[in-house]
Amino acid sequence: MKANPERAREAARAVLQDFGVKGVPVPVERIIKTRNIVLQYAPLEEDLSGMAYIKDGVGIIGVNALHHPNRQRFSAAHELAHHVLHAPEIQKSVHIDKGFRVLLRDDVSSQGIDPLEIEANAFASELLMPQEFLMDALDASGLDIEDDSGIEALARKFRVSASAMRYRLAGRF
Ligand SMILES: [Zn+2]
Repeated sequence: MKANPERAREAARAVLQDFGVKGVPVPVERIIKTRNIVLQYAPLEEDLSGMAYIKDGVGIIGVNALHHPNRQRFSAAHELAHHVLHAPEIQKSVHIDKGFRVLLRDDVSSQGIDPLEIEANAFASELLMPQEFLMDALDASGLDIEDDSGIEALARKFRVSASAMRYRLAGRF
């Protein structure tokens, strides 16, 4: 299987539209619950961000409760992607995400090259930082995104981490 991040972004836009999202921060938790997926928070080991599986027809998402709330939002969106895009795969076995090491440039772990992970990150990025709202925010604020404080302000508005925002703006998710 070859990664298709554009298909993943399209799927995220469809989810936003279905839910009628009109602004940011995107209510990822409510979106997940509306889709009848059980969302659970539990203290997990530091390098585990989350997991997704389908058990007896019930969709389940687990998120590491010990991580920063903004990181939890990204994990929840990433796991939602697996439900939307990869249901057959997560039916066979529990899908466990060990961090999002794609964020570390020199890391060649499976997170960065596994097609499922590339798609899930593209979906999460589009879901939490929709292109349309990102453009509006950039136009309205006049923020300087070359500047760390500008990125941080933008990240706060969308309730994502500064590194997720940096990746989004660089077009790497
Ligand atoms: Zn994953």
